[in-house]
Amino acid sequence: MSIKGKTAIVTGSTSGIGLAIAHGLAKAGVNVIVNGLGAPDDIAKAVDSVKALGVKAAYDPANMLRPAEIAEMVAKAERDFGSVDILVNNAGIQHVSPVEEFPIEKWDAIIAINLSSSFHAVRAAVPGMKARKWGRIVNICSAHSLRASPFKSAYVAAKHGLAGFTKSVALELAEHGVTSNAVSPGFVWTPLVEKQIPDLAKSEGISEEAAKKQVLSRQPTRQFVTVDQVAALAVFLASEEAASITGANYSIDGGWTAQ
Ligand code: NAD
Repeated sequence: MSIKGKTAIVTGSTSGIGLAIAHGLAKAGVNVIVNGLGAPDDIAKAVDSVKALGVKAAYDPANMLRPAEIAEMVAKAERDFGSVDILVNNAGIQHVSPVEEFPIEKWDAIIAINLSSSFHAVRAAVPGMKARKWGRIVNICSAHSLRASPFKSAYVAAKHGLAGFTKSVALELAEHGVTSNAVSPGFVWTPLVEKQIPDLAKSEGISEEAAKKQVLSRQPTRQFVTVDQVAALAVFLASEEAASITGANYSIDGGWTAQ
């Protein structure tokens, strides 16, 4: 059995890991609702690149800060595509700051986008998945769901929370044909990481090249994980063959969390 013809929502799929997952699912014949922020031209290019793989694709502008928009995204996908079979909660942001100076609005936004948006999407998608006795929930966590770093208190809190949420949902849905798993990448070369390099270089008084090396010092392979590697794992977790995998948190981090 294949997942060809099923429908997925991938949050935050206008860029980076989410866009690679959208492409990976489309290559498996899955229709995709693309979501995320960005310039209209870039969004149109992202949606067209998914359609070019031979599936149906649409864009939903739901802002992950707004629960009602998330619920409406799921309802609209069910109306327009017939079902939401695969939900990939991927949207995420980062902010780096000492805890005592952490801007309150940044804390709130990171918790809302990186953690609570997954709850709102799962809450809206689960009734349909249960009714059809089939569903795949893949939450893009992070090595920071298992390990901490200084100055990333909100991100680490959100990702640890998302890892716990993944397990709780897995237990609730275990007898309903719906799986819930987490994927925890180490450092992946995407705009989210790229944006941190100049700040790190500045705060440490080092070059951007040295800052990159410093980031990779956590990762024993000394290589960035690629977006396609993360996508391949997410697509596998969405497959029929992964039916018995639930409540798991898969590290894809070049050995970081083996330390
Ligand atoms: P990215 O910045 O390339 O992509 C983030 C996506 O989220 C974009 O599509 C963006 O538009 C979307 N987004 C941000 N705020 C949103 C909002 N309010 N509403 C809707 N969409 C919103 O980043 P990425 O590196 O591809 O990150 C994707 C996920 O992977 C995140 O959850 C991130 O925490 C996680 N992750 C990334 C890395 C890494 O090294 N890049 C490592 C571990 C985990």
